[in-house]
Amino acid sequence: TQRLATHGVTEAWERFDAGDVAGLNAFLAVDRDATTAEGATGALVGVPVAIKDNLATLSLPTTCASRVLEGYVSPFEATAVRKLREAGAVIIGKTNMDEFAMGSSTENSAYGPTLNPLDRTRVPGGSSGGSAAAVASGVVRIALGSETGGSVRQPAAFCGIVGVKPTYGRVSRYGLVAYASSLDNVGVFGSTVAEAALGLETIAGHDHFDSTSADLPVPSMVPVLEAGNARPLAGLVVGKPREYFPANLDPRIAAHCERALAQLVALGAEVRDVSLPSTDLAVPVYYIIAPAEASSNLARYDGVRYGVRVDADNLRSMYEGSRSRGFGAEVTRRILLGTYVLSAGYYDAYYKRAQAVRTLITQEFANVFASGVHLLFTPTTPTPAFRLGELSDPYEMYLSDIFTVTANLAGVPAMSQPIGLVDGLPVGGQFMAPHFAEPTMFHAAAALE
Ligand code: GLN
Repeated sequence: TQRLATHGVTEAWERFDAGDVAGLNAFLAVDRDATTAEGATGALVGVPVAIKDNLATLSLPTTCASRVLEGYVSPFEATAVRKLREAGAVIIGKTNMDEFAMGSSTENSAYGPTLNPLDRTRVPGGSSGGSAAAVASGVVRIALGSETGGSVRQPAAFCGIVGVKPTYGRVSRYGLVAYASSLDNVGVFGSTVAEAALGLETIAGHDHFDSTSADLPVPSMVPVLEAGNARPLAGLVVGKPREYFPANLDPRIAAHCERALAQLVALGAEVRDVSLPSTDLAVPVYYIIAPAEASSNLARYDGVRYGVRVDADNLRSMYEGSRSRGFGAEVTRRILLGTYVLSAGYYDAYYKRAQAVRTLITQEFANVFASGVHLLFTPTTPTPAFRLGELSDPYEMYLSDIFTVTANLAGVPAMSQPIGLVDGLPVGGQFMAPHFAEPTMFHAAAALE
């Protein structure tokens, strides 16, 4: 299972051109001259990587796929990007995304949607769809995305690759453009479990530029499976939370999960039925808290310091004109929703209640893990990749996050890996783990791979 990044930059560009990757609209900017940083000696020397366009890079613009940041070049670099570079990785491009990471399909980009490389009539998922497509098309084997509510795991599932959201605090958020700060994480895509683990191990660690980054040592994460051991998961207890297997779950997705669970048992694990009773509240809670934080974080795009400015004869009109022109429909919807739930008359009814339920959800995860369960296993998404334009109702789109937003609310690590096909489209299986238990998660995922 030790299949680490094996191709270099020349091969990346060959694949890019041969596969008409430009036609996928996965990249917003590319750097054909990029090479390994001078003096780099780490685990990724010569390895091409792609970076979601909400992570600050020095060499290429950082636009968050928004008009408001069109052409913006950051004067500083995200810590996760710096760590990749220092390990020798070659930043070959910035990837398309839903504007400001708001969406589940990469259709909300101001620069047009990204297409799913496995079926160009379908979405790659989102919001990190460009990074997922960059890996699924074979151009890179490791890419960075971001996760506020499933934006790495859901596109990983839709594109048939591995996607990881670390524990909140495991990776510095310095240089990740803020969407909802209490939920935001830098996440990693890989062609294999080992590659995703290697990417995460490289970018993890304490950073004094992010006060919420955890001051803990970074364990080795790349899974090592002993040759000849038929039961590498002996002693592992995997919980199967019933709320993630509702009666109306697509039976073909349920069947793939059951097969994966049976395989975990064959590998030595014990599977236990568990319950996370507040799961059905996660989507409504998420879509109150995330817009609330977004409405505050996005107040900085005022036309004064960044990007688009619409000239006007007074300050207020300048703000209004710049923000109206700069932000797309979904971002505007989130700002309005967030401002509403934080407003004086509604704060207690919506925001405060949502925070209380978030605490409950976090507590339920803690209780399950305290009961002797080491990992949870669930489907990643309720459906395979949908068609471009198929989910035109924002609420329907929000429901595609039903199995993924919980991990962000609770801050626990989670990952998706391919477990089968439905109508020729990949289906993802999800592991979730206690805070900072990424190595356990990678070990089980590698055994199942
Ligand atoms: N689909 C979710 C949203 O639109 C998740 C986004 C994310 O994880 N960045 O908010």
